[in-house]
Formats: sequence, structure tokens, C-alpha cells
Amino acid sequence: MKVLVTGGAGYVGSHAVRLLTKAGHDVWVFDNLANGYRAAVAPGRLLEGDLLDQQRLAQVFAERSYDAVMHFAALAYVGVSVTDPAVYYRNNVVGTLNLLDAMRAANVNRIVFSSTCATYGTPAKVPITEAEKQDPINPYGYTKLVIERTLDDYAHAYGLGFAALRYFNASGAAEDGTIGEDHQPETHLIPLVLQVALGQRPEITVFGDDYPTPDGTCIRDYIHVDDLATAHLAALERLQPGKGLKLNLGTGAGASVMEVINACRRETGHAIPHKVAPRRAGDPAELVADASLARKTLDWTPKYFGIEPIVNSAWRWHKSHPHGYNG
Ligand code: UDP
Repeated sequence: MKVLVTGGAGYVGSHAVRLLTKAGHDVWVFDNLANGYRAAVAPGRLLEGDLLDQQRLAQVFAERSYDAVMHFAALAYVGVSVTDPAVYYRNNVVGTLNLLDAMRAANVNRIVFSSTCATYGTPAKVPITEAEKQDPINPYGYTKLVIERTLDDYAHAYGLGFAALRYFNASGAAEDGTIGEDHQPETHLIPLVLQVALGQRPEITVFGDDYPTPDGTCIRDYIHVDDLATAHLAALERLQPGKGLKLNLGTGAGASVMEVINACRRETGHAIPHKVAPRRAGDPAELVADASLARKTLDWTPKYFGIEPIVNSAWRWHKSHPHGYNG
């Protein structure tokens, strides 16, 4: 298939592009490089552009005929979405509407969309199934939920075939250590802990140790970025006109903040000092996926199970790229 991947120079997108290419698809990346990296894309495969630039989008779809789109491009800092929602709604929602318009004009009616467990907000029960009420607690989660609803309506009205994949905590890096996580600024737990091991930070701050969990720290479902990529490929192969798949992508097992830090201590051999600070606003105690629907629907099983192999792959990337794509 000829596939256009928006945000293919970013963290999850770049891993999906590698896998799609390996599977024999003809893959083109559309990215504005605001948070993505040229070095994460194979030479000659990057079409620079912004989803807010409708002319550029029309040009990209006029230049080549695509069979499907994978849509990763989005802003994804929860905290910034609270302080600057205008930018988030414009980029994520308007940007996606522009993309869907351009697809309709070019008769492309298949899309795999990056959604998030943040659309559930604080779930009533864990593990979270797709039947859980979607009730986001921040603008980022709302932007993704609005897009899910838009996709539903476009499927009904225009015959769009889509998959909305609700990621839990994307983590880890490609086994060969050539691409990985590089956010500026970094806010995610695993890269921050590994930056302490690299001597780039004095300590890691644990946001709250008084949660109702066994060790008092928050529990998350860390899913390897290559497992996310295989799920995207499987979803792409199952898209049907007029139908939508909405699936949780997680492992079904959780790890606490302290378990992540301890796994990083074992992996790196570094003491990794930590200090406990107050809770971070908007952090639910526990987010763990019930991913049985994705397993069944996509005939998919995460290869990385448990926090150790995830931390191991992340460490390989961070050790060899202590300053991310800048060296
Ligand atoms: N966290 C932490 N210290 C940090 C960064 C994150 O204790 O410096 C915690 C955070 O409160 C959450 C978990 O680690 O419980 C995962 O956070 P992250 O930002 O990586 O992902 P999120 O779950 O927010 O998508």
C-alpha cells in the first residue's frame, strides 16, 4: 500500500514508518518537524508541511495517490494543553479536519489514528475496557476525543474506514538503538530517569507516594513503541469502508513509578537518587488497559511484556544518543 504517515518523524510515528517499510509498504512522511526529527526519517521520504496549511496538504495528495493515511501528527503535552488550549485545539482538531478534507478530495478513505487513554480521564474501574466512559480531564484528551467522534461521523456519512488506537504509555526504543524517544522538553518518566543515570540530572522527582496503590506511587501500563507499531500495521490491514475500530493498546499489566525507577537502577547500575514531591495535577492513581479486544481484533500480542525489556531498549537508545537526535 502507498501510505502517508503524518507525524512520521516523531517518536511513535518513526517506529511505525520503519515497520511499514519493512513490511513492503510504500511509505511517505508528512511532518512539520516541530517535534519530529529529519534524522528519524529515511532519506528522500520526508514531505515537509503543516496540517494547518491546506494548500500544502492538497499538493501532497495531488502529487501521489495514497491508499491510506496513518495520522500521528499532534501536540501531546498535557500540561501545555491546559495553559494554552487554543494551540492544542487548532493543531490537533483543525489540523485533523484539514487532513480529512484533503483525503476526501483525493478519495482516500482509510485512516489509522493515534488516540489515547487520556480520552477516558479518571476511569471508574481498572483495567480499562473500550466500554469505559470517555470523560477527559484535560484539553489534550478532549482534542483526541473530538477527533474520534469526527471519525465516527465521517465513517457514517462518507464511508471512511478508520481505526482509533488508544495508546497507554508509549515507551522503549527500536532494538537497533537508531531511533527512540527525544522530546524537548522531556516530561516522561522513563527518559527522565535514564537522564539521571547519564548524569544529566541530579535526581528524579516522584510525583506523589500517597496514592492508593501497593507502594503509594502511580501505576501505568507501559507499552513498547514497536508493539504499538505492529498494532498499527495490523489495524491498517483490517480497515473497512464505513466502519471504525476503537481499540486500547496496552499490555494489560501495570508498573508503579518506583518499579520503573528500580528497573532503571538494575539496568543501568546507577544509584538514581529520587525525591518525593507532591502529586502532579490530573494524574489518576492507576491506568491499565484491558487490551483483550485489540488482541482479538488485530490478532496481536505485545512482544515486550513487563517493564525490564522496555527499559533495556530505552537505555540502549539513550546511552548511544545521550542528547537524542542531536548526538
Ligand atoms: N512521573 C514522576 N516523575 C516525573 C515524571 C513522571 O513521578 O518526573 C510519574 C507521573 O506522575 C505518572 C508516571 O510517572 O504517574 C508516568 O508519567 P509520564 O509523564 O511518563 O506519562 P503519563 O502517564 O503522564 O502519560
